[in-house]
Amino acid sequence: MTESTTIRWEQDDTGVVTLVLDDPNQSANTMNQAFKESIAAIADRAEAAVQADKDAIRGFIYTSAKKTFFAGGDLKDMIKVGPENAQEAFDAGTAIKNSLRRIETLGKPVVAAINGAALGGGYEIALASHHRIALDAPGSKIGLPEVTLGLLPAGGGVTRTVRLMGIADALLKVLLQGTQYNPKRALENGLVHEVAATREEMLEKAHAFIDANPESQQPWDKPGYRIPGGTPANPKFAANLPAFPANLKKQTAGANYPAPRNILAAAVEGSQVDFETALTIEARYFTELVTGQVAKNMIQAFFFDLQAVNSGANRPKGIEPRQVRKVAVLGAGMMGAGIAYSCARAGIEVVLKDVSAEAAQKGKGYSEKLCAKAVAKGRTSQDKADALLARITPTADPQALAGCDAVIEAVFEDTSLKHKVFQEIQDIVEPDALLCSNTSTLPITTLAEGVSRPVDFIGLHFFSPVDKMPLVEIIKGERTGDEALARAFDLVRQINKTPIVVNDSRGFFTSRVIGHFINEGVAMVGEGIEPASVEQAAAQAGYPAKVLSLMDELTLTLPRKIRDETRRAVEEAGGTWAGHPSDSVIDRMVDEFGRPGRSGGAGFYEYVDGKRDRLWPGLREHFTKPGHEIPFKDMQERMLFSEALDTVRLLEEGVLTSVADANIGSILGIGFPGWTGGVLQYINGYEGGLPGFVARARELAATYGERFAPPALLVEKAESGGKFSDA
Ligand code: NAD
Repeated sequence: MTESTTIRWEQDDTGVVTLVLDDPNQSANTMNQAFKESIAAIADRAEAAVQADKDAIRGFIYTSAKKTFFAGGDLKDMIKVGPENAQEAFDAGTAIKNSLRRIETLGKPVVAAINGAALGGGYEIALASHHRIALDAPGSKIGLPEVTLGLLPAGGGVTRTVRLMGIADALLKVLLQGTQYNPKRALENGLVHEVAATREEMLEKAHAFIDANPESQQPWDKPGYRIPGGTPANPKFAANLPAFPANLKKQTAGANYPAPRNILAAAVEGSQVDFETALTIEARYFTELVTGQVAKNMIQAFFFDLQAVNSGANRPKGIEPRQVRKVAVLGAGMMGAGIAYSCARAGIEVVLKDVSAEAAQKGKGYSEKLCAKAVAKGRTSQDKADALLARITPTADPQALAGCDAVIEAVFEDTSLKHKVFQEIQDIVEPDALLCSNTSTLPITTLAEGVSRPVDFIGLHFFSPVDKMPLVEIIKGERTGDEALARAFDLVRQINKTPIVVNDSRGFFTSRVIGHFINEGVAMVGEGIEPASVEQAAAQAGYPAKVLSLMDELTLTLPRKIRDETRRAVEEAGGTWAGHPSDSVIDRMVDEFGRPGRSGGAGFYEYVDGKRDRLWPGLREHFTKPGHEIPFKDMQERMLFSEALDTVRLLEEGVLTSVADANIGSILGIGFPGWTGGVLQYINGYEGGLPGFVARARELAATYGERFAPPALLVEKAESGGKFSDA
């Protein structure tokens, strides 16, 4: 019998065995090799004990000695699984599942006392228990988020949720979106049976369950069990089935997300067979995912890159962390109002300043609306909402900014106005206050010329809507000091957002790169391609927003203004301006047809009562060449490649300094499709690797223009067998 090293067997004198999950070599428990051996040893010991004396054991309680219950699969191992070691991974998964199943079917009650996060594999251990009690600890999350990493829960997660709540609920509430529930919402949605306020209460409830259910069984192991809501074998259920693929499509938009498809297949096929066969089906669909490229991309981005970015790989070393106490937000418009809310939500005092008290109050009104909605939906309490609102002081008086240790400016996009508002307040706020601008395009170095302390001046580029968008792009100007960079980083983390760091350049990283996506979509319309096809290509590539609708949202006049300013700057510096095939389409839309985008009431789309309606039929009249089509793959890759190639140029130019920042920034900031793992991982994972990507870029360049020619850095890396990585 092997020994258990990661699970302690603690038996009390009443015969209740607490299985304490406690991996001595890691800060969190994971389904690694040691766990596989430990859980097998525990199953052996449990079986032997019950065989020797039927009454020796009264029941089992899984709980953990760590802060979290159990973290799930070991992603360091999973990202390395290829076709060559797929069988090994399959066997390891099967071994763990078999051990859990042996304990589950021993005829003794099994309780999961979930003391902290139980995501993925952690919740699967809980599902292999007859009764689940969650401790209502702050930050506790429960669910099966595998889909967000391009995987499916193959530790019995699909098989058991389908049997627990029925196919529809399992798919929609748990599996397809990977929702992470707090303990109370987990209870409401049927993921756990009880919630406990303290650890003691949780364990008391566990013992009480064992006392009351000495011969407990899983519902699916009881005679006559049927899956709630039926299965496709049932005609009533079958009538609803066609709706699933439609829901799935809505959920994943693009065709490049294999995980939801495999989850659907595993759930439906698994519902029509016995439990053990369902586990095997689930494992087969998992193996297909884990050996594929998309899961690797998503694990790299959403786990490793995100962790690197948030943990401060880019924060200057050796500078003491600092917290902001009181922030001045200048400009209470759309962005300022959202920034004020996000800061107040994180416990920071906010002075929200605009030109008039009314305008400032209107900005605070945005927080009032968000708070009312959160209270109505039960996401926060009235007290918490009141406290949040009490932290926001709207004002038109510069003197109210006294004591602020950080300033975030969000007035109109105009250099001289921005200079003016900083001059007005820089001697009122704390003498070393951090000075930030939320400009989306203006060079930080130029803006810094207008303040007395350029060393403390930095760009803090938020995205709209601020309360929802998780990313902030930090822009270091030429004279920005390391101290300011560290403080800006800490501020972004303080408000629970993800910071990427870039050097100053027109449009920085995000605004510049998203411009290529939009321009490419617009250029295709100009070439005479059916606009509906262009929109479809963007959606199927996995972009969250269709390209022409996004252009309308941003308004056509804005990129035109930026384009003209950039052209002037390039020409003044003695360079030549190449222009873009989209230029003439945008000019005609604005000048000839008077369609500047959504805010002007008309753009590529028609708008009815401010709501987007259909694509403007005039597009077909003025631009479309009937019968002119290009391959769908070319349409998609023109958008994806234009963004990827410019990202490489930004690395060459030193604007970007980190691959993880590029990947995370592209997904979280500008909607680069998540299945790619981000804009540089897209190049790494392209068919044929970097050489394959270079060859394809050359093909696109030959057909659609020199803007697709691969930059030198890319060609060099491809030729030397390298790839984009921070390691
Ligand atoms: P907005 O027009 O909604 O708000 C600007 C606000 O600034 C208005 O309320 C205006 O009254 C106020 N203001 C003007 N002069 C002022 C002064 N002297 N003192 C105090 N307040 C003054 O604009 P917005 O969309 O919130 O954009 C603000 C900034 O954020 C711009 O630099 C913009 O480029 C940038 N930005 C915008 C977005 C976006 O999606 N809208 C995204 C990122 C960054």
